[in-house]
Amino acid sequence: MPTFAIGVDLGGTNLRIAAVDERGTVLEKTALDTQASRGRDFVITEMCEAIRATVSKIPSATLAGIGIGVPGIIDMDTGMLRESPNLPGWHDYPVRDEIERRLGTKVILENDANSAALGEKWLGAARDHDDMLMLTLGTGVGGGIVFGGRIWHGMRGMAGEPGHITIEPEGPPCPCGNRGCLEQFASATAVVRMAREAIAKDASSALAHAAQGSVALTAKSVYQLAMQGDNGAQQVYRRVGWALGIGLADLINLLNLPIYVIGGGVASAWEAFLPALLEEVRKRSFVYRATAPGESSGAGRKTIITRALLGGDAGLLGAARLPMLASEVSMQEGVRKRA
Ligand SMILES: [Zn+2]
Repeated sequence: MPTFAIGVDLGGTNLRIAAVDERGTVLEKTALDTQASRGRDFVITEMCEAIRATVSKIPSATLAGIGIGVPGIIDMDTGMLRESPNLPGWHDYPVRDEIERRLGTKVILENDANSAALGEKWLGAARDHDDMLMLTLGTGVGGGIVFGGRIWHGMRGMAGEPGHITIEPEGPPCPCGNRGCLEQFASATAVVRMAREAIAKDASSALAHAAQGSVALTAKSVYQLAMQGDNGAQQVYRRVGWALGIGLADLINLLNLPIYVIGGGVASAWEAFLPALLEEVRKRSFVYRATAPGESSGAGRKTIITRALLGGDAGLLGAARLPMLASEVSMQEGVRKRA
């Protein structure tokens, strides 16, 4: 009998569930409101019911397990959420064990940005590579590292937080406790903050006029202004590219991976930040210069910096991949034991 897995993308506002087969084909898909304000037990009950309903629609295949992508810091040893700003009240609660108990199936909890990285590795921009790093530019900046087709977890599951590497030591304070993190320059929140700073400096700019109008100042509206030639808006995205370039230069020197994938809503402004990003990476990373696409770096494999392909589905598909990888590991262990 063929197998399939359930992927869950549990956000602060949306809860999405997909049944996915081993080739990555989506068999069923559901979306609900998370209603986080109604509390943890309500959300878990709704989620378990929706998972049961999804599974019951696929009687002709065996369920391999459930992968759940969650925002926040997850302790992989205990299957608990250590910190999740979007899911208040879930702190230090045995999320994984409770869902396993209710559904009677293996559950794997994973950070949502790690799940997105795994999704892009499996079916997206990095599908032809075993090793990759992904940056997700959303409200914050998330990330994930995949080595040998699997998420690199570090000691307890907290590895892969490139959003909190320091870009400017005395820069804006970050909720993580540091200052001048990449997230403070390359997230949607940071784009809006930097646009407001630019407006405060020059109230006569087109950016300031736009902000006074009916259009809300968002990462998207600032991007649209940049594309229309507004200098202030272009400066904001040059700053995004500058920060991403500094961060990526460090990561490229450290990891020498074949591919770095950039996704999330802010990545839609790709054309507006890419030139500054590449300029900075080239200036700061000798590993990049030695492996950059083009003539000057000679023959051999090149460092690819590219956009994500799966959009909002990356995390959902990556979550579904988790139990498949786990069952491959247990099969390999079984073979080793028998040998
Ligand atoms: Zn930070």
